[in-house]
Amino acid sequence: MSPRATGRDSRERSSAPNGSTRGLRATRAGAAADIPLARRSRPQPSGKASLGSRFRWSLFGSLLVGSLAVALVLGPLRPWLAPPPVSGLNARQGADGRLLGHFPYPEAPVASLVTVAPGHQLREEAAQELLAMQRAAADDGVQIRVISAFRNVALQRHLFFEVGAERNQSPEVRARVSAPPGFSEHSTGYAVDLGDGERPQTNLSTSFESTEAFAWLQANAARFHYQLSFPANNPQGVSYEPWHWRFEGSTDALSLFEPAHRLGRALP
Ligand SMILES: [Zn+2]
Repeated sequence: MSPRATGRDSRERSSAPNGSTRGLRATRAGAAADIPLARRSRPQPSGKASLGSRFRWSLFGSLLVGSLAVALVLGPLRPWLAPPPVSGLNARQGADGRLLGHFPYPEAPVASLVTVAPGHQLREEAAQELLAMQRAAADDGVQIRVISAFRNVALQRHLFFEVGAERNQSPEVRARVSAPPGFSEHSTGYAVDLGDGERPQTNLSTSFESTEAFAWLQANAARFHYQLSFPANNPQGVSYEPWHWRFEGSTDALSLFEPAHRLGRALP
């Protein structure tokens, strides 16, 4: 390159607008025109390229493995990171959603409830079958009485905490005989506690299993789509409740109680 050309190059460079590289690029393009085409582009050494891409891939791999590890660790921990589901109760749901043995249940819409006895309501389809069942039992000389039916979450809260405290029961002990609020079959409007009209002293007691009413229910309740929720040694680990029956004669009821059935099928 001649001294003249060098002088022009430096003039062009200095005449470039402040902060702009346009002049410089034009000069380089001009210089490049003097170089034989074959020599203009110099391939990158393959070692450097593979090192760079190897670094990028290993970074990508580490990030992928890292996020998978975080997801694997945090997934099962999620229930433990969220606040406990029932305020005032320091217990958390297991992987299947159960809290101290009880599955979570939604509260029945008020409009879906009808009266089955003074002060007691059930969902309409459950109510119709219960009334038919009571009539059939009465025809056999057995008096089946409703002790408790639909309970909203607020009433369940009272029964769980306040009655539990009156009885000096810890939440864990209380949960064996009463579901925490939001986890009671009674809130679905499909569950009912039944007694024997001839032997009210057995109400809500395991001695109810010695009554004619219980024997009749064992033999006939399935015809009316009722079944015992908590038989002895039930897979949920809830205390034996011979008085507590749930209706499963509709698609909605069946789907609500499916997790309980699934647990029963999973265990030997
Ligand atoms: Zn009950």
